[in-house]
Amino acid sequence: MKIVKCGDLGFKCSFMAVGSELEKVEKEMLDHIEEEHKDDLEKMSEDDIHHLKHRISTLLGRSCGCGAL
Ligand SMILES: [Zn+2]
Repeated sequence: MKIVKCGDLGFKCSFMAVGSELEKVEKEMLDHIEEEHKDDLEKMSEDDIHHLKHRISTLLGRSCGCGAL
């Protein structure tokens, strides 16, 4: 079972994306952020957004593919 908590990504939010497939959980989390934290997302730079996606991947136990740890 894969779990990502929105709160672990720095949002004051209790949403959790849960599922057995990594890709689905990752997408669910990103969809949630785009819907519920749109304002925060708009304030973020591309770097911040990449970092956020990277953090989701890391929390799910894999690299996002950018090569950084
Ligand atoms: Zn959230």
